[in-house]
Amino acid sequence: MKDKVPGFEELQRKIGEFVNSLKKEYGDGIQDVKFGVYPQAGAEKDGIPETPSQNKKELNINFDLKPKDVKAYLDKYVIKQDEAKKILSIAVCDHYNHVSDCIRQERESKNPKAHEDYLDEYTKQNVIIIGPTGVGKTYLIKTIARLIGVPFVKADATKFSETGYVGGNVEDMVRELVDQAEGNTDLAKYGMIYVDEVDKIAVANNIVGRDVSGRGVQNNLLKLMEETDIDLTTPYDPLSQMKAFMEFQRKGKVEKKTISTKHILFFVSGAFNGLEGIIKERMQKQDMGFGAVVVSKNADIDYMQECRSVDLIRFGFEPEFVGRLPVRTVCYELSSEDLYNILKYSEGSIVKQYKKAFKSYGIDVIFSDEGLQKISQKAYEEKTGARALATVCERVLRDFKFELPSTNIKSFIVTQELVDNPSGELEKLLNDPNSSRKLIDREFIRQYEQTFMDRHNIKIRFTDEAIDLISDKALAEGVNVVKMCEKTLADYEYGLNLIKRSTGKSDFEITKEVVQDPNGTLDKWVKKYYTYQPENA
Ligand code: ADP
Repeated sequence: MKDKVPGFEELQRKIGEFVNSLKKEYGDGIQDVKFGVYPQAGAEKDGIPETPSQNKKELNINFDLKPKDVKAYLDKYVIKQDEAKKILSIAVCDHYNHVSDCIRQERESKNPKAHEDYLDEYTKQNVIIIGPTGVGKTYLIKTIARLIGVPFVKADATKFSETGYVGGNVEDMVRELVDQAEGNTDLAKYGMIYVDEVDKIAVANNIVGRDVSGRGVQNNLLKLMEETDIDLTTPYDPLSQMKAFMEFQRKGKVEKKTISTKHILFFVSGAFNGLEGIIKERMQKQDMGFGAVVVSKNADIDYMQECRSVDLIRFGFEPEFVGRLPVRTVCYELSSEDLYNILKYSEGSIVKQYKKAFKSYGIDVIFSDEGLQKISQKAYEEKTGARALATVCERVLRDFKFELPSTNIKSFIVTQELVDNPSGELEKLLNDPNSSRKLIDREFIRQYEQTFMDRHNIKIRFTDEAIDLISDKALAEGVNVVKMCEKTLADYEYGLNLIKRSTGKSDFEITKEVVQDPNGTLDKWVKKYYTYQPENA
């Protein structure tokens, strides 16, 4: 009997009983409890800070971002994929300009239908993104959604079934948008829906092994992309039934709430294995035709860029489905160097996350460039794109995160050796916490040199002997090495500036003598370089 799914009426009755039992236990106040937003499966923040628009409860109808603004924002987070960034920036600006126009017209017009002629002419800029896993497809869209301040939902096409009873229903994505917008349908109707692995619902006669229900799911998705009203309460979802029941108890009636998909922007993506062959074949056939451009001899052709609707139809999509996805772009595999750039330069880099995690135990961690390169190489070998960066970092740093917070160790450095042999290096660090001190201090001093340069436009460079000495002095005085540098060079900012103004010299070597006798050495330097000029006094 356990497998028996209750009928609609029975389910409603059971939910009623359940709510009544809650009321008995907790009193009538239970009716006013608001159900929270479901956490999105696999949702990560990606280190993207909240943008001002994110807290807005309404879409800014004076949407004024230009494609270049969107691209510049994406550049801060997403490494490479320049063509995709450009195409997406244009599509998104087009879409939200259009949406803003529609909202404005709706508000200004006495007749709410007045803008419909204009609407009919507009083709929504839904996008197909082709590319392998872990190269930033989702990250791009998520970042744009945060910038614009609209909710974002991602789902895999494979989890949907034609009927929606088993697996999931494509309409659930729209309801999830409302949850993401904390129930604010005014915002949810301008959200973004991202369907991954859409290539798995292609149905091609000549390609075996594809799911036969693919066509049904394509049709369901097509309806969403065209324009349809989605009921926000679902008969087969107990939670939404419960919400409805509570509303009924509160207000004596349940309003039917729907949301239109007219302005929701859709993105679909997948690796599309086999598509390249289809495009190539078509182009080579054209090539043999009369007057065609000779393409087949050029081995460097990026066939994916040449993807046309006919190729997608041949791949196994319904023509109407393809027709609703007019914008197409490709994201490319990332090289080991790209992965290094992600770690080093992306604002959403996982390195920041690790630094923060250690910092909360009062531990400073430095990633050397060689260490970052080693992480990138190892991640590259996993062949799962940038996703592997998180896996490798976790593998390398897991035990450090476990052990170090309970020790007195307050800093460590992620070197190439540490990435290669985390357990060996951890043991070394635990047995002799001082062993890596100088190495770490050297990194801190290099950062200090950079800060000095940024602040005063004067280049300083500590010699190895000076580093050794200042590191020992810092230890002896029980202060951090950067504090020791600042203390030692307290008068150098002024003194070196004098010399720079007088002679034009703007780089200086910080020697052992400077550390031993900072004031005496500076005096000597000033006397040597600086010529007193009374008229400037
Ligand atoms: P997919 O292409 O499969 O959608 P994602 O966009 O989900 O991959 O990438 C997984 C994670 O890897 C992202 O959350 C992000 O942290 C990182 N990442 C992937 N590609 C890039 C990129 N080009 N630049 C910066 N980070 C990236």
